This record gives sequence, structure tokens and C-alpha cells, in this order.
Amino acid sequence: MSNPTILLGSGNRNKGIEIGRLLEPAGIKMMTLAEMPQTPEVVEDGTTFAENAAKKATEYARHFNMWTVAEDSGLSVDALDGAPGIYSSRFSGVEHSDQKNNDLLLEKLRGVPLEKRGAHYTCSMAFADPNGEIRFTCEEYCCGRILFERHGTNGFGYDPLFEVIEYHRSFGDLSSLLKSVISHRARAIRRFIAAAPRFFS
Ligand code: IMP
Repeated sequence: MSNPTILLGSGNRNKGIEIGRLLEPAGIKMMTLAEMPQTPEVVEDGTTFAENAAKKATEYARHFNMWTVAEDSGLSVDALDGAPGIYSSRFSGVEHSDQKNNDLLLEKLRGVPLEKRGAHYTCSMAFADPNGEIRFTCEEYCCGRILFERHGTNGFGYDPLFEVIEYHRSFGDLSSLLKSVISHRARAIRRFIAAAPRFFS
């Protein structure tokens, strides 16, 4: 495949922006589900990030007959035995929102001291050919801890509460440029970009 255009199997606008920014300089054009007609719903019923990423990549690739990259990501908090994990987006239930998810996280960590508030983001990525066969996978992480209150308005999801320890700042405070270097998603996309030429020659 030359002049590759791949599909991002995600309806999450924020992820689309972060991933699109990284693929563009690598010469990989990306379409999102928002540009596709009648997107089928893929039920994320895997028990791991990797299973969900592979399922999304396979099903969207088959449906649209396109090379498709998909990712599943989330936040794991040590003091909550890894929760919310694969349930990160729906942590606060059916009527979930970033605000409610962050409120619930603060509530669950009430009384937990800073040294026990360790957490990490995970990003599992899968790339499928137009037949839905998985051709590449990887998983990357970004470590930090959960603050006692929100800081900053950049990013999305849990970013205002997620402190990147070496920068003493939350992803809500840090620039999108820095997030595009050190985040779990950025690390995973860079591995995908490194592997991509073997599919696009
Ligand atoms: P998914 O769309 O099912 O993969 O859900 C991912 C969820 O994990 C998001 O809705 C956020 O709650 C959380 N998450 C994943 N990556 C990030 C990030 O980079 N910043 C903040 N929250 C994230």
C-alpha cells in the first residue's frame, strides 16, 4: 500500500486529535469514524485493554474494508487495585462524564495519602488489515499519581487529576506538545509508526 490512508477505529474526538497529530508528520493519513457513514457499534466486552483494542481494529477493518488502527486505554490506580482500568470511560455509571468520573475518583481516594496515590495510564494498540486480521499490536504506559484536586484544563478524561511526577504538573497543566511526547498513547503510536513501513511499502 502506498500513500496510506488508515482508519482510526475510535469515536473519541480527543484521541483522534492526539493520534492524528502524530501520524501526520509520518506521512500516514488518517480517517476517523466521524467521517464514515453508519458506523457499527463494537461492544467492548474484552477483559483486557489488548482484547478490546484488537476487537475494535478487527471489526471496523472488516466492516469498512480498510487498514484500521484501534486503541483501548484507561487509568489504573494502585490504591484501587487497578480500577477503573478497562472501565475508565464508564467509571461513574451509565450517565458517565469526565466530570463525574473525576469526582468519583477523588471520592474513592479520600483519605489516601500522596505516597499511596500511584497510578498509570495504559494504551493498547492494534492494527488490522482490511480482512480484519491483526498485523501489529503494542502496549505502552505513562506513570504518575492522582492529585487531591483538579489542576489545569488541557487534555481530557482524568488529565486534570493525573500528575506526571517528573514534571510536578498534571496533564491538565502540561501542554499538548509535551503530552504528545510522553503519554501512553504517544509512546504506542510511535511504535506503530516505526512498524508501519512494512505494511505500506
Ligand atoms: P476507551 O475509549 O474505552 O478506550 O476509554 C478510554 C477512557 O480512559 C477515556 O474515556 C478516559 O476516561 C481514560 N483515558 C484514556 N486515555 C486518557 C488520557 O490520555 N487522558 C485522560 N484520560 C484518558
